[in-house]
Amino acid sequence: VGEGGEITYKKIQSSQIMGSIQLGIQHAIGGLASKPERDLLMQDFMTVETTNFPHEGSNHTPAHHYSEFKFKTYAPIAFRYFRDLFGIQPDDFLMSMCSAPLRELSNPGASGSIFYLTNDDEFIIKTVQHKEGEFLQKLLPGYYLNLDQNPRTLLPKFFGLYCYQCNSKNVRLVAMNNLLPSSIKMHQKYDLKGSTYKRKASKTERQKTSPTYKDLDFMEHHNEGIFLEADTYTALIKTMQRDCRVLESFKIMDYSLLVGIHNLDDAQREKNEARKLTESGQSDGEDNEGETKRTGLNRTRSINRQRLVAHSTAMESIQAESEPIDEEEDVPSGGIPARNARGERLLLFLGIIDILQSYRLRKKLEHTWKSMIHDGDTVSVHRPSFYAQRFLDFMAKTVFKKIPSSLKHSPSKRK
Ligand code: ATP
Ligand code: CA
Ligand code: CA
Repeated sequence: VGEGGEITYKKIQSSQIMGSIQLGIQHAIGGLASKPERDLLMQDFMTVETTNFPHEGSNHTPAHHYSEFKFKTYAPIAFRYFRDLFGIQPDDFLMSMCSAPLRELSNPGASGSIFYLTNDDEFIIKTVQHKEGEFLQKLLPGYYLNLDQNPRTLLPKFFGLYCYQCNSKNVRLVAMNNLLPSSIKMHQKYDLKGSTYKRKASKTERQKTSPTYKDLDFMEHHNEGIFLEADTYTALIKTMQRDCRVLESFKIMDYSLLVGIHNLDDAQREKNEARKLTESGQSDGEDNEGETKRTGLNRTRSINRQRLVAHSTAMESIQAESEPIDEEEDVPSGGIPARNARGERLLLFLGIIDILQSYRLRKKLEHTWKSMIHDGDTVSVHRPSFYAQRFLDFMAKTVFKKIPSSLKHSPSKRK
C-alpha cells in the first residue's frame, strides 16, 4: 500500500496496472483473430509478442490516459489453444477480461502479489515474480500435455501470461480460473499444505471479514475432519493423487489446496434471520440490506449461472456425479457436498494453487529450509516427493474422511 492508501505494486498504482493490462489484453486477443486456428507447434510455447502503447495511440493501439507502456503476450497461440480446451470462446474471454473494471482482492499471501478478479467472477489475474513467469513458460508444453490428456483436474488452469512494462519496471501476470465464486458466501476458507510449521493464520488475517485460515486452524476448527460420501471421497483423493504426481514430476512444491466452505445450514439460518429483520422493519443497517439482497431473487440466477470455463467447478474437476444435496432448490451448483462433524450440510469449493515454485527456485528461502528440518525431511533430492506425499496424507487422512453412517442420516435441520 502506497501513500494516501492507494494500492501500488512496484510503485505503480494498481488502478493504472488494471486499466493498462485491459488495453493490452484486448489488443492481444483482437490480434489473434487474424491468425487461423491450427495445431500447436513447439515454437508456439516460446513466442513473445510486444506492443507499444503510446499516449496518443498508434495504427493499432488506442489513445489512453495512463503512463506509456509496453505489453508483452507470451505464447499467444498456445494459450488460445488452452482456452479452447476449456471451451472459452475468444469473444467471451475478451468480454470477461476487458468489458468491465477488474476488482482487486486483498491477498493474504506473504509474497506481495496482487490479485484481480474479473467482474463476471470467472478469472483471476495474479502478479507473479520474474522466476515464476519464466518457470511457467518452461512448464507450458509438459503441463498442457497433462491437461490435454486429462482436463478434469484440480490443478490451476492458466489462460494467459503477460508482462506489463512501465518506467523500466516489469509486472508479470498470469490469468487463471477463479475457484471461489464471489456470489456464494464462504463461511470458512483454508489454504492447506499438510505442514504444521507456522501454519496458522496471523492475527491481522484473522481479523479480516473473510480470513484465509491455515492447517493448524483447520485442525482446531474441524478436529474430526470433513465428511464426504465414499464415492466422492475416492474421486477427490484420486484426482489429488494424479495432480500431485504431475507436480512432483516437475519438482514443484509449496503449493496449497484452497478450500472454501459454504455451510448450507448457516446460510439457511442467516436467511431466516434476515427475513425476520425485514419483516419486523428493523432492516436499516447496511449489513442487513446486504443480506437481504444476497438472499433475494437475483441470488438464484447468479449462483447457478452456467460457468464460462468448462470442467472447472469443484465437482467437475474431481469427475464425480453431481447429486443434489437436498430436494431444496436455490442451492448453489458446482460445490462438492459434504458434512462437518455436527452433521451440517456443506458445499466445498476447492483447487490446488500457487504451483509456480519449483524446488530449484525455492531452496534459497530460509523458511522452507527451516520448515523442512522441522518436518523431518533433510534429504534435499527427495523434497518434492516428500512434499507431495505429506500433502496427500494430510488431505486423505486429516482433512477429508469417508462419511460414517451415523452422520449420513442425521437430521441436520435445526432451523
Ligand atoms: P505466498 O507465496 O506467500 O503463499 P502468493 O502471493 O503466491 O502467496 P497464493 O498462495 O497463490 O498467493 O494465493 C494467496 C491467496 O489468494 C489464497 O490463499 C486464496 O485465498 C487466494 N487465491 C489464490 N488463487 C486463487 C484462485 N485461483 N481462486 C480463488 N482464490 C485464489
Ligand atoms: Ca501460497
Ligand atoms: Ca507463491
